[in-house]
Amino acid sequence: MLLKNSLRNQIALMCVCLISLCCAVLLLSYAYFSRQNHLQQVQTNIIHSTNVFRQYLQAKETMLITAAEVLTADFGFKQAVATSDADTISSALSNHAARIHADLMWLTDAHGVLIAADQISSQKHLQPAQPFLQALLRTPGKGFFIELNGTLYQVIVLPIKAPHVIGFALVGFEIAGVITRELSELTGVDISFYNAQNQLLSSSVSPTDSSLARADLEARQMPGLFGARPAFNHHSMELPALAGAPIGVLLSISLADFYADLDNQLKTMALMALGILLLGLGASVWLARNLTVPLAQLVATARHFAQGQYTDLTLHQHANDEIKLLFSAFSDMGHEIHNREQEALYQSQRDPLTGLYNRTAFIYTVEIATTQERPFLLVTTNIRGFVQINSSLGPELGDRSLCAVATRLQEFPGLHARAGADEFISLLHIPTGTNGENICREFLAAIHQPISVADLSLNIVFRAGACQFPADGDNSKTLLRRSTIALEHTRNEGALISFYRSGDEENMLERLAIVEALKLALQKDDGQLSMYYQPKLNMHKGYVDKVESLIRWQRPGHGWVSPELFIGLAEQSGLIIELTHWVLRTVCRQIHLWQQEGIYIHAAINISAQDINHVEFLPTLNAALAEYQLKPSCITLELTERDLMSDEVQAISLLTELKKTGFCISVDDYGIGQSSLGKLKNLPVDELKIDKSFILKLDTSPTDQIIVRSTITLGHNLGVSVVAEGVENEASWELLHKMGIDYLQGYFISRPFAASELKPWLARFHGVSKHA
Ligand code: C2E
Ligand code: CA
Ligand code: CA
Repeated sequence: MLLKNSLRNQIALMCVCLISLCCAVLLLSYAYFSRQNHLQQVQTNIIHSTNVFRQYLQAKETMLITAAEVLTADFGFKQAVATSDADTISSALSNHAARIHADLMWLTDAHGVLIAADQISSQKHLQPAQPFLQALLRTPGKGFFIELNGTLYQVIVLPIKAPHVIGFALVGFEIAGVITRELSELTGVDISFYNAQNQLLSSSVSPTDSSLARADLEARQMPGLFGARPAFNHHSMELPALAGAPIGVLLSISLADFYADLDNQLKTMALMALGILLLGLGASVWLARNLTVPLAQLVATARHFAQGQYTDLTLHQHANDEIKLLFSAFSDMGHEIHNREQEALYQSQRDPLTGLYNRTAFIYTVEIATTQERPFLLVTTNIRGFVQINSSLGPELGDRSLCAVATRLQEFPGLHARAGADEFISLLHIPTGTNGENICREFLAAIHQPISVADLSLNIVFRAGACQFPADGDNSKTLLRRSTIALEHTRNEGALISFYRSGDEENMLERLAIVEALKLALQKDDGQLSMYYQPKLNMHKGYVDKVESLIRWQRPGHGWVSPELFIGLAEQSGLIIELTHWVLRTVCRQIHLWQQEGIYIHAAINISAQDINHVEFLPTLNAALAEYQLKPSCITLELTERDLMSDEVQAISLLTELKKTGFCISVDDYGIGQSSLGKLKNLPVDELKIDKSFILKLDTSPTDQIIVRSTITLGHNLGVSVVAEGVENEASWELLHKMGIDYLQGYFISRPFAASELKPWLARFHGVSKHA
């Protein structure tokens, strides 16, 4: 991946910048010092050249003096001068000039008036002005530079003595191109002579022309690496000349070679810098690579960590110590995270108290098991009465019991989890050739062994519900739901174990729907629910002084629903409390309404064990009685034998209180429960209702007759009245009458009917009872 801001790029960039800076500084300082050095050399050269130039001039001057002395010392010449023989003088001058290669040879008289000139200058018409000559004559024996008609001459004036001064001889050499070049070669610099107007009179610099000014030469430039630069380094010098006609010389060192040298050196240096730069770049890339490759590895590792892979890190071969340290820290971190993750995973899958799998982890395992062919059982177990164990032993021992149960479960091969406070789920494999139900029973038998907690041996009773894979479901959710449905079944049946049967779930859903609809019916109270009443014939008085209140429900869209069904569901769902409250109010109001019609009749109300244990039961009943100004004696509370026996101690105290208040207590469905006669003796009851299963076929069943007769006798002995319900024929009536029954109830007397039918029915049956 190319990262614009990557470390590698940054390192490379930084290195390149540093090296570039370094090179630039070196290059510039080299250029500066080299230039200084060269300039110094140039300066030295100039000084040297100046010296050479001076020496040359000196030599030239000496030569001039010698030439002039030779001339002025020549006797013939002196004679000619003395005779003022112009032609002789002129020819002598010319001869002499030719001999010494002088370009100018003049003769003046003692007053400086030109007497004769050599032939060449005469031909050139070189006529010096008088003041000019006068000035020359004032410094005899000294060399001068003068400009004559635009040409430069080095001249000397010497007096001609015979023995006193009779004239002056002037000897001069033309300083022209050849001499200038000679001088230039001798001094090693370019030589340019200029006059007062700074016009060049002669110059070795090419190309030159006579109109060239000194300033032009000084301003001359040459192209360079970084633009134009001066072509020469100049040094000017005043030459001995006449006042008012100064002559100067410019010694110019050409800088071309110097610059070429400098440029070459700079180029070499620049190439070297480039080389260093490239080397540096390579080194920085290598360095960056050494740093970034391990970093990239670490990035990749961090990504692996994020995905939960904590594989060992392989270190980049050339990693340095810091990187190695970082790698080792990273590696340690990976291991730590891995360990912690494992720990967290373990914790997330376990129940903190028992160490068994929790529900979520278990569901996951079951889901995996369903992907395999192997059949298994899913058993949901529940500790019966764990609430009591917990409250009697205390929460700490309660917890220890659960741990002991967990250990017990784990002793049985399979997978076990804690699904709720006192609920466990187990996955038990069914080996080929074995029966799932048998394994489940074996399992229950194994866990049913007493467990010891704090020196106590506890007999823990389990209820279980089981289902099988694949017969009862092919996924974890269905299987878990169905094993719970089976457990619910076990609970409702009061059994120890139930196996899921096909259709159970649908039935359960239907039951749930019924409960919901019933709840709605109670909330709305829109006439779906009503009370029917079945007469109870008082055999001693010979008339009906009581009715049993029986609830009816016409469920919209479903018709009449059997009270056996919905009462049972209401009891299981806890809805029975609300339902009983509704019944209490409805029946009390009805008694009141009947009383207003002049019918004074008692009513029996069916209540369940949950009702009397509920705190609101008695207040609601009392409130209903108070509202309709009824006495408690109007009401008989029917409780089944099974309900009474489920919590005997509690029942006795509650019933005693109810009885004391004045309610009549009746034991419903007597004979089918397991109550012993001894227990019955202790119960504060007023009435025994022999279950209709003994009465329905009483006339034809001698056994039933024996049971019924003995029950009547027993009841009477205990001081309670005995009721027979389910009387369907006259024969049974007769038998019961003979047996001394106190009340009769059954279809033979009447089926249950709506409240409004009581009055006409009573009228038909025997007239309205006047008894309360
Ligand atoms: P139960 O308390 O034993 O009520 C007597 C049942 O026997 C009534 O059925 C009644 O109609 C029926 N029965 C009466 N005489 C005869 C007869 O000669 N032959 C036959 N075959 N049956 C007779 P029902 O009304 O269907 O009630 C069934 C059960 O529903 C009741 O049994 C009672 O346990 C419960 N139940 C009814 N109404 C209420 C109520 O308001 N509250 C509570 N908690 N339970 C109620
Ligand atoms: Ca009843
Ligand atoms: Ca009954």
